[in-house]
Amino acid sequence: MHRVSARTPAYDVGIAGAGQLAQMTVLAAWPLGIRVAVLGGPGEPASAMAAGVVEGDWKDPEALLRIGREVGVLTLENEFVDAAFLMAVEDAGTPVRPHPARMRVVQDKALQKQQLADEGLPVPAFAVPDSADDLEAIGRDLGWPLMLKARHLGYDGYGNALCADMGEARAAFPGLVARGGGVLVEEFVPFQRELAVMVARRHGGGDAVYPVVETRQHDHVLRELLCPAPVDPGLASEAKRVARAAAEAAGGAGVTGVELFHTGGGHILINELAPRPHNSGHHTIEACVTSQFENHLRGVLGMPLGPTEMIAPGAALVNLLGERDGPGDPDITGAAAVGGAHVHLYGKADVRVRRKMGHVTALGASPTEALETARRAASLVRL
Ligand code: ADP
Repeated sequence: MHRVSARTPAYDVGIAGAGQLAQMTVLAAWPLGIRVAVLGGPGEPASAMAAGVVEGDWKDPEALLRIGREVGVLTLENEFVDAAFLMAVEDAGTPVRPHPARMRVVQDKALQKQQLADEGLPVPAFAVPDSADDLEAIGRDLGWPLMLKARHLGYDGYGNALCADMGEARAAFPGLVARGGGVLVEEFVPFQRELAVMVARRHGGGDAVYPVVETRQHDHVLRELLCPAPVDPGLASEAKRVARAAAEAAGGAGVTGVELFHTGGGHILINELAPRPHNSGHHTIEACVTSQFENHLRGVLGMPLGPTEMIAPGAALVNLLGERDGPGDPDITGAAAVGGAHVHLYGKADVRVRRKMGHVTALGASPTEALETARRAASLVRL
């Protein structure tokens, strides 16, 4: 049957993926009466609970067009979906938020950094080499060690290489090029701590900024988070100012996660943006008036955004990461005995080392008190 443009989509929102971010977005959507379809396979975290599942892969342009035909608006849970494929969904009549032209910039770490620098926002010194031969001069310019990053498809540190000298950089270069089509080189930032700010933007105008969090990474993966970040008010408002401006430069509707380095005093540098709900915002489910997932939905649908204030003086999150490879055998009984701890499991069938299997959030009289509770519960979860 020929489709006409004045269509009534079966679902309000589609998500190009079915992982844990899609899952938590689906859970936020039900009470609002928003029907969400996800794109994925039957065993994926969001598939069991979405209003609709379009079977397919977000790397497949045909699958993206299929979900596009079923939904009023298509959005993302990762920044890697090919911008040209997303443009084809737009051209076929379904709005994609954030817009594919914005996605093209943000999904390339070099273009993203250049855009932020062009806006006058603070970023680490960087360079984009044409070939490994350029690294010598870049090293002289920025100083060793250097952080080399694949321009595309890097996440949780896959795609990054910290190189002490020219020998290491030359050795790392081909692997990074093979991963993502080119390399971004950054100065190594000896930061004091890492911060993150979630910014929600409404299609049609308006934004809402969440309290600044401190994120603690180990081996490039988020382990723990404190909210609000234990920093002085001047630094917190500078972090919010920079994050808000960065999210505006990226221009997307919905939630943008802005990762920051605090380099000392009142100084902030932007590490990177993620144009989607983010691990640094999972605590907002329990800790804030409106969660990042609800505000993402509100934002992409052009609805008014909800307040982002905390409902407790402190909150903390501990990620539950796989520590072995094999089938999962989850048991939260022990953790359930820890009062005030909120355990989230993503329902992934298989455990893998470093894989994000879930998280625990706790509220408290202070972020450190909340962290103690979350840690205690996390240590009692079996994966
Ligand atoms: P990914 O996209 O894989 O998450 P990021 O670029 O966010 O990669 O880097 C992951 C982590 O590596 C950061 O959270 C930070 O701890 C460290 N890192 C990244 N860039 C730099 C840098 N220029 N200097 C120092 N550490 C960095």
